[in-house]
Amino acid sequence: MYGHWPAICSRIKAAVKRLIAVVLAVLLLAGCAGGRLQTAVEKAAGLEVHFLDVGQGDCILVRFPDGRNMLVDAGSTKSAGTVVNYLKKNGVRKLDFVVATHPHEDHIGSLDAVIKAFEIGEVFMPGATTTTKTFRDVLAAVRDKGLKITTARAGLNILRSDNLSADIIAPHGSQYESLNNHSAVVKITYGRVGFLLTGDAEAQSEAEMLAGSASSLKADVLKVGHHGSKTSTSTPFLKAVAPRYAVISLAADNDYHYPHKVVLDRLKKAGVQVLRTDQKGTIVFATDGKDITFSTEK
Ligand SMILES: [Zn+2]
Repeated sequence: MYGHWPAICSRIKAAVKRLIAVVLAVLLLAGCAGGRLQTAVEKAAGLEVHFLDVGQGDCILVRFPDGRNMLVDAGSTKSAGTVVNYLKKNGVRKLDFVVATHPHEDHIGSLDAVIKAFEIGEVFMPGATTTTKTFRDVLAAVRDKGLKITTARAGLNILRSDNLSADIIAPHGSQYESLNNHSAVVKITYGRVGFLLTGDAEAQSEAEMLAGSASSLKADVLKVGHHGSKTSTSTPFLKAVAPRYAVISLAADNDYHYPHKVVLDRLKKAGVQVLRTDQKGTIVFATDGKDITFSTEK
């Protein structure tokens, strides 16, 4: 009888070891699953703003926490492939909101291709028109899909929920000498974090935004107006926006010599971190409504 004890003891020991191993494995798996779940929830709850590198031009993809997507501008005609491929690669099937800030080719050149390639919700454009082929192509694409255009003007709300909003805060007027001042300016707020997307709005429109509601201009990320041209980013406007980050969307060695030094100096003096698509490629910001992170292609 006594002779069996060592064997029984070792069997019990082995069983206990197995039990401990199983418990550890279960705890480990639960931990991993918890981590994955948390990551998924965080991603789902986040807002992303992608500043696409489209050379000389603007193209911004906004991915809202509820899965809806907004495109603000679509780059020049030659960036159609870049834009459509980027959206597809990122799993975008529908653009719930499309904003054409103003009818210049470096903003709407590829919009007809985008409208043809994706399911489109609402389209916002300012009242300004031009006689260019690229503008006519956009209108034709809108018409062919049976979409209608909502006129973009200050005070128009695009979406609003508990802690998320997207509003158009310019143009205030309808008559401007420069087509740039017709630019639809989009302000997005998620929790405590704000993004201000200014198109090519110049100092005149900036002054109107300041007079309209200077307090609503405050934003953590400013898409610098008109590719860093000295016609935009006036000192009082920059002071009211008081951004942490400024994104300039442009091509290296562009014909216009953007960004202008005076604008870079203003941003530097204001202590703003500047990110340029000609240097960094596509720039993606993500926020949970409190903190902001960003990643760059280069
Ligand atoms: Zn432009």
